[in-house]
Amino acid sequence: MIEFSEINLEARAPDVTDGGRWKSIPLVQRIDPLTLKTCRILTGVKLQPEKPPVLTDIVEADGFCPFCENVFERVTFAFESDVVPTGRIRKNRAAVVPNIMAYSGYSSVGIYDTSRHFLTLDQFTPEILSDAFSVMVEHAMAVKAARPDLVWSSISANYLPSSGSSVVHPHLQSSHDLQPMQYQKELVEGAKAYHKSSSRSYFDDLVSQEKNSSRYIGTTGSVTWLTPFAPRGFQEIWGVIANASDIAELSQRNITDLSDGVARVLAYYGAYNFSAFNYSVVGGGPGSLDIGFRLVFRILVRSNPDKYYRSDVTYFERLLDEPLLDVSPEEVAKAVAEFFN
Ligand SMILES: [Zn+2]
Repeated sequence: MIEFSEINLEARAPDVTDGGRWKSIPLVQRIDPLTLKTCRILTGVKLQPEKPPVLTDIVEADGFCPFCENVFERVTFAFESDVVPTGRIRKNRAAVVPNIMAYSGYSSVGIYDTSRHFLTLDQFTPEILSDAFSVMVEHAMAVKAARPDLVWSSISANYLPSSGSSVVHPHLQSSHDLQPMQYQKELVEGAKAYHKSSSRSYFDDLVSQEKNSSRYIGTTGSVTWLTPFAPRGFQEIWGVIANASDIAELSQRNITDLSDGVARVLAYYGAYNFSAFNYSVVGGGPGSLDIGFRLVFRILVRSNPDKYYRSDVTYFERLLDEPLLDVSPEEVAKAVAEFFN
């Protein structure tokens, strides 16, 4: 039995609707049973946008876009032939290419559809999603074959500048590394400890237990959708994929089921006037099946885009607890020291 615990923090605050009279406001801190990470569930604060955002300025492809079909093959590069013999991987209008920003041992960027510079959330169809996930998994399998030492894999995405994305054209990214991301490590260590004490899969137990809870959403074939007890972000939704513990193990069936569910989640977000999101699904690394690890697709919403603003928080910080830094602490110290002379 997985235990969900929460602590009543008994918040006291003045009520503006009642002349500033001090009152007790419900506030709980919840603890994630696997990672022991905590969050707070507030009362009365609703951050949902009232209207759909106006995105005209950022969605027009008037400038240069490396992911648009007219330039795509010319401005992106092929993979090294010892990893991907064909150099490029495409499926219908989806493609995956090397990411020129090196944030992992192998970093790749996938494009859902090179002919679509912008998609509203309800335009992410199961077909578009499935083509993109398929090329990412095909690339993951190629990396696994060529570089078996890169055992830590993940697929993630930022959508629109307010989610940390630097390119509007819908895309997703992958990482294949010698080392896990911080959150990946915590998930695997938690699953391992749970398996050691119970000989059971934490994620299978979570699914069977939550099927009877108020956090259960539904299933799309092999994927069970639910909201996490202690979310890491707004409107967070999980898809737990049965019998798959690493990215390269995702079957076409899993991909179809996942895409079906993701399209439904994005349609839900769109219907509530959200437009930006991050998601991530991390592999369990070596021996992950033996500890009952399961792939969990985690998705959450971000603020709607505002002109001139690009968030410096991407899926790395929001979902993987692994900050990306462009300037080293030593360089910062050197520059700041000038102001201490
Ligand atoms: Zn484009």
